[in-house]
Amino acid sequence: MASLAFLQPATISSPVTTGIQSASVQQAPAPPSASFAGASAPTVAGLAALVGAGAAVGRTATQRRATAVKKKGVKVVEGKEIPWNLFSPKAPYKAKCVSNETITTKTSLVNWETCHAIIDHEGKFPYVEGQSAGVIAPGPDKKGQTPAKIRLYSIASSAVGDDETSKTVSLCVKRVVEVSGKGWCEYSNIPEGAKDPEYPDAEKVYRGVCSSHICDLKAGDDVLLTGPTGAEMLLPSDPEANIIMLATGTGIAPFRSFLRYLFHDKATKGKFKGVAWLFLGVPFQKSLLYDEEWKKMQEEFPGQFRFDYAISDEEKRPDGSSMYVQHRVMEYIEDVWPMVKDPKTHVYMCGLKGMATGLQEAFGPSAEKEGLDVKEYIKAMKKEDRYHVEVY
Ligand code: FAD
Ligand code: NAP
Repeated sequence: MASLAFLQPATISSPVTTGIQSASVQQAPAPPSASFAGASAPTVAGLAALVGAGAAVGRTATQRRATAVKKKGVKVVEGKEIPWNLFSPKAPYKAKCVSNETITTKTSLVNWETCHAIIDHEGKFPYVEGQSAGVIAPGPDKKGQTPAKIRLYSIASSAVGDDETSKTVSLCVKRVVEVSGKGWCEYSNIPEGAKDPEYPDAEKVYRGVCSSHICDLKAGDDVLLTGPTGAEMLLPSDPEANIIMLATGTGIAPFRSFLRYLFHDKATKGKFKGVAWLFLGVPFQKSLLYDEEWKKMQEEFPGQFRFDYAISDEEKRPDGSSMYVQHRVMEYIEDVWPMVKDPKTHVYMCGLKGMATGLQEAFGPSAEKEGLDVKEYIKAMKKEDRYHVEVY
């Protein structure tokens, strides 16, 4: 098996360093090119064959045990240092918004809007793919705290950032909006005597404090960041690993970070020798996230990258119920299940809490056919550190 470290050893020398980009994108010589280039279309059969090819190379599950270390600002994970809580809520990093864009189109839902914010950290907020950042909004928050209590956001850019300078971090944030009479709405934070400008007739309107702060950011605005944090969603170190990603809504964020690292960034593109398969669930076509980016990646890496969507409000299952990501997975279970059983495959899930049990439902029948208990099987995968879940 190739012994190249896909996630490169970190070289963090101090809690605040501009040299961290080398931590996640340091170059290792590329392994001899696998014969993926010839693959012409992202067919399921093709993917399955690739998985088989990968399996023949060697099978070792990545053991990732995070150990707390004394060194400030770093955590050792699998023997490698990753940036860790360089900035605390008491001493956040004051970054600046570079740009902010709404990346969804209006639907019938009040919370239809998701934005992509690029934030300049001048190289002082290093992170690796799969980590999260904290954001402190001016507040007051729902508990009346000013500034607001931090909210966590999965980082949506790879470590080098969208501009590949290692000086920016991007977030994919859904604007939380709740309006009475238009779905669930328990609370209201319209100031007394005022009306919500968008829903002046609604009795109650609640606008998420931090998500509104981020979605309203303009170029040049300050953004207070904490972290980075999170070791659950890191990429495996084996470049021949296979990666299955399941996202609902903004749960796409860590996977955009992964996929740019694997298939986009100049410094790392082409080093990955496994297969990556993304499943994304959103309510409407208009809510799809980063669709153009996935298309480009698939065009360039047809034998290695595949993506499939579950559009819950527009696609129905044969029984008339909504199509969720786990149901899309079930459609391809004959290809997915052999991948899951391959010890080189890592399964990642991010987004809504409900999807975690949904995946058990998807894997259940295949596991049963082989006399396996799906819960026990997933437990074992977790132990092997190849089942990664961050849901909220
Ligand atoms: P808040 O103002 O905190 O409101 C949240 C909810 O609290 C509302 O539903 C509101 O009705 C309710 N509420 C209001 N008042 C009260 C009250 N008095 N008592 C009880 N409840 C009340 N989100 C993303 O969009 N993108 C991401 O990439 C992302 N990544 C995340 C990663 C992690 C690890 C975690 C844990 C969460 C992530 N989130 C992400 C969710 C994010 O952290 C926030 O929870 C979300 O943006 C809402 O925050 P807010 O401040 O806008 O909402
Ligand atoms: P969204 O746009 O509403 O999309 C969610 C999609 O999942 C919808 O199509 C929805 O269908 C579907 N869905 C609902 N219940 C499901 C279930 N049980 N199983 C599978 N799919 C289901 O998503 P969102 O508002 O961005 O929500 C994403 C959630 O992820 C938020 O709660 C956010 O806080 C969290 N998040 C967590 C992390 C993290 O932990 N790292 C990172 C990012 C986001 P319907 O139309 O039927 O509802």
